[in-house]
Order: sequence, then C-alpha cells, then structure tokens
Amino acid sequence: MDLLRSVRDTMDETEFHTPLPSGYRVGSTRYLAVFGTVMSGLGKGIFSSSLAKLLKDKGLRVSPIKLEGYLNIDSGTLNPFRHGEVFVLDDGMETDMDLGTYERMLDQDLSRANFATSGQIYRAILDKERAGGYLGRDVQMIPHVTGEVKYRLRELAVKTQADVVFIEVGGTVGDIENAFYIEALRELSYEEGPGRVVSAALTYVLEPPALGEQKSKAAQLGIARLMEYGIHPDIIACRAENEVTKKVRQKISVYTNVPFGRVFSMHDLPSIYLLPERMRQAGLDSEVVQLLGLGGKVNTAVEMKAAGEWNRFAGKIGRATKKVSIGITGKYVALRDSYASIIKAIEHAGVANDAEVDLEWIETTDITEDNVAEKLAPVDGIIVPGGFGVRGTEGKIACIAHARKNKLPYLGICLGFQMAVIEYARNVCNLPDAGSTEITPDCATPVISILPEQKKIEGLGGNMRLGGQDVQITPGTLAADLFGGAQRIRQRFRHRYEVDPRYIETLQKAGLIFSGRHPEHPIMQILELPRDVHPYFVAAQFHPELTSRPLHPQPMFVGLVKAALERNEK
Ligand code: GLN
Repeated sequence: MDLLRSVRDTMDETEFHTPLPSGYRVGSTRYLAVFGTVMSGLGKGIFSSSLAKLLKDKGLRVSPIKLEGYLNIDSGTLNPFRHGEVFVLDDGMETDMDLGTYERMLDQDLSRANFATSGQIYRAILDKERAGGYLGRDVQMIPHVTGEVKYRLRELAVKTQADVVFIEVGGTVGDIENAFYIEALRELSYEEGPGRVVSAALTYVLEPPALGEQKSKAAQLGIARLMEYGIHPDIIACRAENEVTKKVRQKISVYTNVPFGRVFSMHDLPSIYLLPERMRQAGLDSEVVQLLGLGGKVNTAVEMKAAGEWNRFAGKIGRATKKVSIGITGKYVALRDSYASIIKAIEHAGVANDAEVDLEWIETTDITEDNVAEKLAPVDGIIVPGGFGVRGTEGKIACIAHARKNKLPYLGICLGFQMAVIEYARNVCNLPDAGSTEITPDCATPVISILPEQKKIEGLGGNMRLGGQDVQITPGTLAADLFGGAQRIRQRFRHRYEVDPRYIETLQKAGLIFSGRHPEHPIMQILELPRDVHPYFVAAQFHPELTSRPLHPQPMFVGLVKAALERNEK
C-alpha cells in the first residue's frame, strides 16, 4: 500500500506513523472489532467469542484480543470484588475474566499477546521515548499511541497467522479510557482497505415495565455516538431481556444504515453456550464471512462436524434428568463474577453427568464448628475455592473438617488445598498449632509457608507462582483415575504459599496422600484421601477451573458432581 510504503521511506518529517511488525502484509488479515454502547456489561466478550467460534468451526484460524482501558499492566492486582475473577493464562499472564470466555468458547489456549491494557500501551511508548526511539519528535496520542495499538493487533496477526483477529474494545463508547483504541481502529480500517475490518456494535434495547414495550432510542443514540468517532458499524447486536421485535430492529436499521439482516437480537438466553447456534440461525456468521470475503476458505464438512458436537453439548443444557446441590464456600460469595470459571466448570461437569447442579453460596465468615453441620446440610458436595488473606479461613477449615468426617464430597482449590492440609494436620496429625504463614506469620507449626529457596530454583520472578506447570501423578490414586491414567498433566497456578516439605512425611504417615507433585521439586500439587476412607476428598494447589472447557470438562469437577450424585441417590 502506497501510504504505508511512504511511511517507511520518509522517517524524518512525516505525520504518518504506522510501524509494521516484520512479516506483516497489509490487507492480508481480516479484523472484526466489537464495541459497546449505551452501557457496560452487555457481554461483548460473549458476543465476540461466539462469533469467533462460528468462524473457527468453519475451518478459519481466529485469534481474539481484549483491549482494556485501565492503566494497570495486568489484572493481577485487581480486586475480584470490583472486577471479577483474575483469569490466568498458561504463560502466566493475569488477565480479565473475558479471556476465560474466549478460551472456553474457542477451546483454544491464549497468551499475553491476546490481552492489552492502556498501561501496557503507554509503557511501551514511554520506554521507547526514553530510548530515543522517536527521533526528536513530540510523542502524541495520534499517531504514536494509536500506532502502538495497531502494531499490537498486527503483531498478533503475524504471531498467530490468524485469518480473522477479533478485537474487543473494553468499556463503552464515550469513555475517555478507550477513545484512543476506537481511533486506532478507525485508522486500521482505512489502512487495511475495504472489506478487511468489520465493526460490530453492541447496544441495549430498553423495555421499561411501566410501558410494557421495547424502546430503541437509547440504542440509536449509542450507535450515533460510535459514528461520531468515524466508525460505521456493519453489525448491530441488540442486547435485551426479551427477543427484540422486528419493529425495533427495523427502526434501528433505518436510523443507522445497517441492513435489517445484520441487526441481531441478542436477548437473554438460559446459557451463553446457546448463543452460537442462535447466531447461526440468524445467519450472522454467513454475513461476516461475506463481508470479509472469506467464502472460499469455508470448509463445510468441518463445520457440520463441529456444529454437531457443539449442539449435542448445548442441547443438554437445561434438560438434565438428575439434580444435585453443591456448596461453594468463600468470602466473595455475594459477587458471582469472582467465581466465574468455577461456575462454568461446574456447568460443564453437570452436562457431562447429565445433572443439573444447584449452586449454594455459603459465606464462610459466618461459619463455626457449632453451625457447620446445619449450614452444609442442604448440599451433596462442597468446593472451597481459592482466596487470599485471613477472613473466613477458620470457617473454611470447619467446612473441610465436616466434609472429611461426614464423607461429604470435597474439592479444594488452591487456598482450599492449603486449608485441607491445615485441617488434617490439626485434627488428624494432632498438631493443634498448624497453620499458614499467610494467615499467622509467626505460626509455630507452619504446614503451609512461603519457601523463597524453592522460588529461586523455579526461577520465577515476582513472588507468585503463576501459569501452567507440569504435575506428576502417582499411579493407582484417585487423581490417576480422574485424569485417565495420565502420568503428567499441565495445570495453571496462582499462589505464593505451599506445603512446607518438613511436614510431608508426618501428613502422609497419618493417611493423607499427595497424588500430584512437581516433577522435580518437593512441591505438593494434589492431595486426596484413600477411597476406602472417603468417597471423594481431593484438592489441588492449582486452579482446575481455568482449564475446563465445554467439550473437555475438567476431571476433578466431573468427579465431584458424580460423587455428589451418588451421595444424593443414597
Ligand atoms: N493465598 C494462597 C497463596 O497465596 C492461595 C492463593 C489462591 O487461592 N489463589 O498461596
């Protein structure tokens, strides 16, 4: 393209600034950008990932990226109360929970290249400026910051060889934080040429109960706002409680010049996993293929097979014949987004067991030894999830003791693994002072502690052990059965503390089995009780929920639901 060639030729006095990653050919990659209007929380990630899935199922290579407005470098420091769970990728990147939606929907592992924040973008610019990388120029939002955004998108295209890069712009059109992303996408669309960048806008159709009908004005204003930025959407997805009427969709079409067939009703569904099929029926995937001129790349045989598999899974949602109740005991139970991946993993495990799983949210701060039996009476199994800090930990230990003694199926995750070790040490090994140095820094019997020497061996910077690691499974154990006899599995971690090796022997002698370990170092990663002692008592130092996928449910959750069903049937 002339425009871009001229950029490289005249480095000194030009207003153009479009650095291109090596190997990138302008116009060869397709992009689909998703914007939110009217309000946040509309499910841009769900929309984008469902559409990406449909394209992937056709045999196309897709790669998503989330562009976050906030200045944090990653999501690691964000409070789950405010921002939902922190989703950890295999390469250790701590990201927004939307990346979990993409991984699950696409059944595809992502990397740090799939996640950008304003903080990362500005940091790259400022580092380059300090290194004299701008050749005496003043560094500006346009073209330098927008240039960096475009660079990242194109770099992802080169790295993943994607046919289509799906770009989700965080926040809502009109926010100050994401304005430069929107501007960058306007530039990208021009530079890549016609038919290369498709824009989709999510909007919200109100249905005030007092009126009893859907109103389109807010949606129209939202789209108008996007057009002020120079972006004309090709697709409009209307979020709404009920199916958006033909009349309202026509109205939106008239006001926006978006063809009626591309104004999609994205109303509430019983499960997000039903959305891809709804989009397919509405023909949205075909519209996108046509807009991007990708018809020649569609593999219909692959598509039929993938759609069949997916619909077999999705068709089971809400049609289970069995019912079971699982308790989640934690301190953020009021905020479901803090446990998004656990909820999804249970949904996958429920479908795998043909069971509808009722989740009971149990606040551990209120639990004591005296009321635990009563609080856990309604459930057939419990999960003690991950967490940080002191609050609620004694309640968790009380829940674990109750589950262990009463053969209540138990799955402990990360902190839930550590608390199970403490409970066993206190109540079975007779070490009443057993604790974790995270909770009691001067603990006399620190069965869980921080081991800096080990961190050094692992060579992991920072002070959290993050991302995918191998776990060696002991043959003949429950864990070996769950993982189909595999000797090594890969799981994702996010922790700072672990079992202090000085206590391993004591715990094992008293009957606790460490059935998953680090292949080289004495880091305990899965624990369990013998099956003749307890029907299902297992915990992981890693986060099994992060790798559960609809068509590949995580075995530890499948096992929990199965054990809970067996208990319920008794
Ligand atoms: N707080 C514990 C640790 O840092 C557990 C972490 C977690 O549950 N994610 O090791």
